[in-house]
Amino acid sequence: MTVFEPSSEIRRPDLPMYLVENPYLRARPGSRNTFGGRPILPKGEDWPECYCGERMALFFQLDVPPDIPRFGGDHLLVFQCPVHNDAACLKSGEEQLPERYWEKPRIWGHPGAFWRIMLHRDPTGPAEAEEPRLLGRELVLRSECETETVWRTTTPGDPYAGLSVGRGEFKVGGLPRWQQDPESHRCACGAEMLFLCGLPEDVEFESRPGQPEQPDSSYSYAYVLFLGNALYLLACPEHCHPAAVWPVLQH
Ligand SMILES: [Zn+2]
Ligand SMILES: [Zn+2]
Repeated sequence: MTVFEPSSEIRRPDLPMYLVENPYLRARPGSRNTFGGRPILPKGEDWPECYCGERMALFFQLDVPPDIPRFGGDHLLVFQCPVHNDAACLKSGEEQLPERYWEKPRIWGHPGAFWRIMLHRDPTGPAEAEEPRLLGRELVLRSECETETVWRTTTPGDPYAGLSVGRGEFKVGGLPRWQQDPESHRCACGAEMLFLCGLPEDVEFESRPGQPEQPDSSYSYAYVLFLGNALYLLACPEHCHPAAVWPVLQH
């Protein structure tokens, strides 16, 4: 049996990291960092639709701070179909993602992607329309020191010896807080994908009064992403496509 012991925690000021906080202020019309709100879409991209034909809900968007390696200055948007709430599990479980995995991801239970996650730096402005199902809230990104925890094991040759994780809050940059085995993926373009943003389990996105409840949600007043699993956004550092981001889920 493997016995893990955390080492003492190591402060990593060399890894820029920002906590994403939600102080419950109503989103302003031109806000770029929001739960809900008006999406700032890449040039030429319409408000995304699910394969089922539903317009997707904007869960959150934010400007990636300039000192985050490879993605600083990008704008990140996370959409999910309001009627499809599920995990996204690759049938193959392979590291290499297929061509156009953001549309046809070869996952269990769905013929296509029920989410769309985008990353761009186009000089576009907020859409006219506001996300209708979720309340528009301001997000605040606060610079914080990443803390790395390295796991030690007393079993000789254990592959997880030296496994390291970062802080577990909703954050941009830093190290992923893996809850299970670390996962890595290679983009269809061949680039090794990098951790960009992490959400702990059950981040609640409050719905507007009178909106239908989200299927399979534990909440009557809020929606969740991917059934409320912990979410790790791995993004293509080559920016080969605005939607070249893969959602890894753990619980
Ligand atoms: Zn759908
Ligand atoms: Zn790529």
